[in-house]
Amino acid sequence: MKVGFTTSFPMEVVIGAGHQAIDLNNIFVLNNSQELVAQAEQKGFPRNICSWIKGMYSTISTFSIDEVIGIVQGDCSNTHSLMAILKEQGTQVTPFSYPYYREYEMLNFEIERLEHHFKTDRAKTNRVKEQCDQVRKKLIELDRLSWQEGLVKGIENHLWLVCSSDFNGNIKEYEKELDSFISDAKKRKLPKAKLRLGFVGVPPIIHDLYDFLEEKGARIIFNEVQRQFSMFYLEEDIVNQYLRFTYPYTLEKRIEDINQEIERRQLDGIISYTQSFCHRQLDHLLLKKHLKCPILQLEGDQPGSLDERSKIRLESFLEMF
Ligand code: SF4
Repeated sequence: MKVGFTTSFPMEVVIGAGHQAIDLNNIFVLNNSQELVAQAEQKGFPRNICSWIKGMYSTISTFSIDEVIGIVQGDCSNTHSLMAILKEQGTQVTPFSYPYYREYEMLNFEIERLEHHFKTDRAKTNRVKEQCDQVRKKLIELDRLSWQEGLVKGIENHLWLVCSSDFNGNIKEYEKELDSFISDAKKRKLPKAKLRLGFVGVPPIIHDLYDFLEEKGARIIFNEVQRQFSMFYLEEDIVNQYLRFTYPYTLEKRIEDINQEIERRQLDGIISYTQSFCHRQLDHLLLKKHLKCPILQLEGDQPGSLDERSKIRLESFLEMF
């Protein structure tokens, strides 16, 4: 079965059960995303609902997804309504919740529930985790090449890390391509970036942001949430792995993680990305207060390229340094 999911969750369970785990966000944003949003609006999805929700909805039917895991706690409140619509249309939907208080027992229970649903067990889940962790170690190296050696562009770092949420649906193939990319990156030279930037918040729906910044001499060498998707902590226990994942819990741990990376990577500035009509826009208030770095808030709405206003704001931000 093709099992789609709405944000990173213990996909090792689904793969261990013999299915393909597919991150709906990645399929949406890397394909005909404008058309997918338009399709959902034609079916009645309102203008003032986030484009990711609309894109994921259309992706499910366009790419013949058999079942959807909706992360109903720790990601997006819109997922509740999306799941209700999908269920009404006959799609099999299964909820998954990250516990608000980050409790081991609660998260373990959620993983066991998934294992029960997919008729699999922890031994099979752990075997897949071991395989994933081998690839995750290589992603740590790719990330290091970005910030320590300056050998990986911001867009490359973003794409490799964001796609590690489902390894493009094929772990072996992803690993082979990653090996080849790392080997080529180590042999090349990139112009040194004048400014070292971080990107925080949900991955951008704007496709030319990274290239625009590179053209101006600034490079993103820290992709916060994308890096979290790569599960780089390499915890032995799968429950601990998903307890350390900062994205689904409270903002404090995210702020702690970002501030550590600001220091370690010697970042000059941060772009705090928010999606139009997303409740996470409120996070920016605390990020602005607590991050130890100059910060620019950038908002994206529809999939596509940077608008003129955003370009001017980015240019003004870069000129501050
Ligand atoms: S960007 Fe925000 S509103 Fe949109 S799907 Fe993600 S969490 Fe939900």
